[in-house]
Amino acid sequence: KLFNEIQELKGNIRVYCRIRPSALGKLEKESIVEHVGENDLVVANPSKEGKDTLRSFKFNRVFNPAATQAEVYSDIQDFTRSVLDGYNVCIFAYGQTGSGKTYTMTGPNGATSETIGVNYRALNDLFRISTSRQNIVEYEIGVQMVEIYNEQVRDLLTTYASPKRLGILTQSRPNGLVVPDASLFPVKLPSDVIKLMEIGLKNRAIAATAMNERSSRSHSVVSVHVTGKDLKTGCTMAGNLHLVDLAGSERVDRSEVIGDRLKEAQHINRSLAALGDVIFSLSQKSSHVPYRNSKLTQLLQTSLGGQAKTLMFVQINSDVSSYSETLSTLKFAERVS
Ligand code: ADP
Ligand code: MG
Repeated sequence: KLFNEIQELKGNIRVYCRIRPSALGKLEKESIVEHVGENDLVVANPSKEGKDTLRSFKFNRVFNPAATQAEVYSDIQDFTRSVLDGYNVCIFAYGQTGSGKTYTMTGPNGATSETIGVNYRALNDLFRISTSRQNIVEYEIGVQMVEIYNEQVRDLLTTYASPKRLGILTQSRPNGLVVPDASLFPVKLPSDVIKLMEIGLKNRAIAATAMNERSSRSHSVVSVHVTGKDLKTGCTMAGNLHLVDLAGSERVDRSEVIGDRLKEAQHINRSLAALGDVIFSLSQKSSHVPYRNSKLTQLLQTSLGGQAKTLMFVQINSDVSSYSETLSTLKFAERVS
């Protein structure tokens, strides 16, 4: 059967932890990570000695620093591929600035076929599978890319000279989506995607020079919309894949920042907390899910909860100086997993 019957999934929230390799030349013994298993890790407080300084965390999967991009993707490909069967899927990367969120989602600057991230791999996968089914289903794939900065949504696929501030539609579209009115481009080939991502990244970079390294203080969302028509029965279906590179989760010392920087920090804290609250209430199967507390959760409302699948990459650093941020990242993840 091609369009799998959508069944109520148990545990459709997965949390994967990925540990960034330490910078070159750092000694292994300076790592705060004491143990890495398939599903758990243990971190040690570097400022204390003895047993009570250890804390262990369990996740659906833990990737050690040597895990390659291909290994990481092969663990999540069932998730991304299910979009072609009509599922809505959200993949987030959460963690402090410098923990590897962009590396996981997009890849490093000047990525090669080995180092490209989840975004490109997922789209390549969708193209490959949709082509292999072309005699059975006619698929159309479209891509949007937006940024959420200070609770404002901006289209990254239009020219920055005339930035378009977008509202989030409160009415569902006929195909069940709630999306801002951002440019949507049809894509057929991996090269189409690469071109669009380049435009999006350039638009982010232009904003960055005006606001300095703004990319770490905004959420970027690549949304892939898939529609399919069964050529024999005429049945149609729609699925969405949202790939979200979140703003850095680091806590900002209130005594040290003022003005715009403080406002940014407050917006980030509030929206990451809102995301955590939504995922937490979904994991508790709670009847009230507080989607309305941030633009991010409003934007993704129809793709979080219900039949949707959610995957969070929790990115951490293993160096001593990151200990307190790493611990707070792991605690955030522990609550939603
Ligand atoms: P973030 O987006 O969370 O701020 P980045 O993805 O930019 O972090 O990662 C910070 C730096 O570490 C970048 O230079 C990136 O290429 C590198 N890096 C992150 N994760 C890995 C990894 N798994 N393997 C190799 N380099 C990595
Ligand atoms: Mg980044």
